[in-house]
Amino acid sequence: MGPATLDQTGLAGEAARRFLSSPRRMLIDGTWVEAISGARIEVLDPATGGALTSVPAADARDVDRAVAAARRAFEGDWSDMRPVERERLLLKLADLLEARADAFAELEALDSGKLLVMARHGDLSIAIDSLRYNAGWATKIEGATITPSFRYVPDLRFSAHTRREPVGVVGQIIPWNFPLVMAVWKIAPALAAGCTVVLKPAEDTPLTALALGELVAEAGFPDGVVNIVTGDGAAGAALVDHPDVDKIAFTGSTEVGQTIQRRAAATMKRVSLELGGKSPVVVLKDANLEQAIQGAAMAIFFNHGQVCTAGSRLLVERPIYEAVVEGLGQVAEALRLGAGFDPASQMGPLISARQRARVKGYVEAGEREGGRLVAGGDAVSGPGFFFRPTVFADTTPQMQICREEIFGPVVAAMPFDEPQEALRLANDTSFGLGASLWTNDLSLANRMVPKLRAGTVWVNCHNVLDPAVPFGGLKLSGYGKELGHSAVELYTEAKTVTVAHV
Ligand code: NAP
Ligand code: MG
Repeated sequence: MGPATLDQTGLAGEAARRFLSSPRRMLIDGTWVEAISGARIEVLDPATGGALTSVPAADARDVDRAVAAARRAFEGDWSDMRPVERERLLLKLADLLEARADAFAELEALDSGKLLVMARHGDLSIAIDSLRYNAGWATKIEGATITPSFRYVPDLRFSAHTRREPVGVVGQIIPWNFPLVMAVWKIAPALAAGCTVVLKPAEDTPLTALALGELVAEAGFPDGVVNIVTGDGAAGAALVDHPDVDKIAFTGSTEVGQTIQRRAAATMKRVSLELGGKSPVVVLKDANLEQAIQGAAMAIFFNHGQVCTAGSRLLVERPIYEAVVEGLGQVAEALRLGAGFDPASQMGPLISARQRARVKGYVEAGEREGGRLVAGGDAVSGPGFFFRPTVFADTTPQMQICREEIFGPVVAAMPFDEPQEALRLANDTSFGLGASLWTNDLSLANRMVPKLRAGTVWVNCHNVLDPAVPFGGLKLSGYGKELGHSAVELYTEAKTVTVAHV
């Protein structure tokens, strides 16, 4: 079942082909510009390894221009705009994205290796819904009123209130696994709150962020409110170090997140971090077997395992352990690998040759350390960065494949004998992003949920994220909740106003 070789670009619609037909520029102060250095980055289709187009490779000078534009915009018309105007602009952006959803899905599938059908019905829907959800927050940001008891001036009374004001210029740095969704999850709440942004997409997947930039201009956002700077990690680092950036919102690896937190201390920037995970899928013996097997498969194989909340550790109560492992192995072996535009494909390639080599390295470590390989384990020969969905059984908590984030379609299964042991194993990790419980015993689930050290616990589901539901991690998975009402809090600061009743 090798992947089909397709020149996918030829299968895209006219709008996407037109977008790809010339080298792209980046968006600074409402203008499409090259990097000052003139350097460029080639953008690849992971299903074929072929080049799609190229984008500018920004350095610190370009970042400086973008930050200056964002600062001017923040202090200019944008800060005088009524909340309802910001709401209207975000709703307009959502409408424009909805109208171009097919072209965006094609670009996303080509750039990231996603299945076209997933990009169209998953990523695009989430991005559009998130814009509309956050648009509503622009007019609903509230402070508090407080009556101080201050007694040092006996005859004077006071009142106080808090205003939630935008943080200012925000630097936003995102990864390659859900490029458009990540861009929207970052810019939408920041704009609703009244911030201006400099967004740095991942160098592997800059295309839909740039396409979104075209819609930002078309929607009528003032110049400089949204700047999109393409480049590598050095461009991200320049944003983190820039003295005129008030806050960094980052999604990516724990390692880079730790670097950002350290470097941000120099300017005391606000930082929010959505980092890696090693999320457990806990299947209790009373669970619906078929649902649990399908659920565990989706938890790890969705988006080819390149999901921060991927269910990469599978803990199964012993009476059903063999059945779940065997069922999952069968699902893995049956998944059809192929290019995103091929309707027969059920799983696409990994993002890059580098990522595929990394995943293979973990599989070799798993075998060396004594894991039992039940399915997959290999890259697929031929073009593109395909890797077979992989199931390890009989793993132990100390193995590298149980401790480190692989960020690929590799799951490590192990049995447990009672719920208390499941909790101990589930929490035996330096990460704390997601966890799922599979059971029909509601009382047991209710007892276990508070004991799981994770930012999100799913019951009989996994990887369900919604614009209205707060999302974020504990421990090395980062801090600062995105989505829901929490997202607006990330992009506002409370100012206290105390008034003497003279
Ligand atoms: P990454 O290397 O951390 O990169 C993330 C972003 O940071 C990219 O835009 C990257 O630019 C940029 N960057 C790299 N070095 C930087 C530096 N020193 N300073 C500032 N920015 C820098 O992660 P990735 O390889 O893209 O994505 C995989 C990882 O992200 C996984 O560990 C995964 O768990 C995590 N992730 C977490 C979440 C979440 O919500 N918690 C979501 C998705 C992914 P380049 O692309 O140019 O290198
Ligand atoms: Mg790409």
